[in-house]
Amino acid sequence: MSLPDWWYGVLGFSPWVAIVYTLITTHITIVSVTVYLHRFSAHRALELHPGLQHFFRFWLWLTTGMVTVEWTAIHRKHHVTTETDDDPHSPRIHGLRAILFRGTEFYRAGATADTIDSYGKGTPSDWLEKNVYSRFLFTGIVTVLIVDIALFGTIGIVVFGVQMLWIPFFAAGVINGVGHYWGYRNFECPDAATNIVPWGILIGGEELHNNHHTYPNSAKLSVRPWEFDLGWLWIRCFQSLGLATPLYTGPVVEKVDGKNQIDMDTTWAVLNDRFEVMARYAEAVVGPLVEEEYRRADRATRQILKRAKSILCREETLIQESERLRIEHIVDNIPVLATIYEMRVELQAVWSKRGGGGEELLTAFREWCSNAEATGIQALGDFVEELKSYSIPTIAATTS
Ligand SMILES: [Zn+2]
Ligand SMILES: [Zn+2]
Repeated sequence: MSLPDWWYGVLGFSPWVAIVYTLITTHITIVSVTVYLHRFSAHRALELHPGLQHFFRFWLWLTTGMVTVEWTAIHRKHHVTTETDDDPHSPRIHGLRAILFRGTEFYRAGATADTIDSYGKGTPSDWLEKNVYSRFLFTGIVTVLIVDIALFGTIGIVVFGVQMLWIPFFAAGVINGVGHYWGYRNFECPDAATNIVPWGILIGGEELHNNHHTYPNSAKLSVRPWEFDLGWLWIRCFQSLGLATPLYTGPVVEKVDGKNQIDMDTTWAVLNDRFEVMARYAEAVVGPLVEEEYRRADRATRQILKRAKSILCREETLIQESERLRIEHIVDNIPVLATIYEMRVELQAVWSKRGGGGEELLTAFREWCSNAEATGIQALGDFVEELKSYSIPTIAATTS
C-alpha cells in the first residue's frame, strides 16, 4: 500500500529540497534580523534602500510576526540597561537557561507601552504597518504554514516548526543569552557581552556580540582579521547593488610615523579608539609582565598569578569578590604588577574627563603618559611611544 499523494505535498518535493528550502528561508530571516532590525533599525549603522526595507519588513511579518517598533525599542533599551535589573533579557540577572529557552517570553514582557514610547523612535508607522503588519500579526505565519504543507506535505509541518523556532532560539536565546555569558572578549566593554565564536555564519555575524557592544553603531561586527561576519558580507553585496550604504564601521585612527608628541588630535584619536587601546594595554603591557613574573615566581606565587592578566584587566563592574581579593594579593606582593594595574585604572579614568572642550582630557592624558614614562617600565614606555603616533585621519573614511 502506498501513501496518498498529498502526504508528499501537492508538488511532491523530496526531503532534500525541504532541507535546502528550510536553510534558505531561515537564513533570509536571520539576514532580516541582523541587517534590517538590528543594524539598520535599532542602531542606524547603515542606510537601506526603501525597497529593501519593505522586503525585510514583509519577510519578518511573514516568518516571525515580529513588529519593527517593538524589536527596535527593546533592543535599544537592552544597550542602555545591559546587565541591570531593567535589562529586558540579561542572563546575568535571569539565568542563562531562562533566556536561552524562553527568550521570546522575555521579549513579549519587554514590549511595554513605556519602552516603546521611550526607545521606539524613527520606526515605520505607515499605512502598511498599521493596517497589515501589526494588525494581522499571525496571518503571515499561517500563510507560511499553508505554503510549507502545500510544498512538502507532512514534512512541511517539520519545516514550519524549524522555521518558527529558529529566531526565538538563535536570536532571542543564543545571542541574548550565550552572547552575554560564554565566549571570548576582544574588548573590556562595560558589560558581560562575549563573542560566541569568531565566525559569524549561523546567526549572520551576531555571534560577535562583544565587538558589537564595544562599537554598537558599527555596521560591521568583525574586528580582528580572523573574524568573519556574514551579515557584513550581505551589506557589502547590497552596497555593490546600490541598495545599502554603511554609515559607520568602528573607530578610524591613523598612526603617523615619527609623530612624537601628544596634541589634541592624538587625544581624540585615542579616545575614539579607547577600547582597542585598552585591549592592547592588556596584550602588550600586562600580559608580558605577568608572564615574566610567573617565570621567576615560586610555587605559591604562581598560584595567584594564574589568569592574572585577564583579572588585572577586567572591567571594574564585572569583577567578582574572589577576584578582587586576588587583585589585592597581587598588588600587595608584586610591585611591578601593582604599578601597571594602577596605571591601567588611571588610564581608564582618563576617558571620563571629557568636559571643558577637551582641554581637561588633553591635560589628563598628557599627565598619564608622563607618569607612565616615569615608571621606567620598558613595556609601558613603548606603549606610550606608540600612542603618541596616533592622529585623526585627514579624510574621514566611513567605509572600509
Ligand atoms: Zn547584548
Ligand atoms: Zn545591538
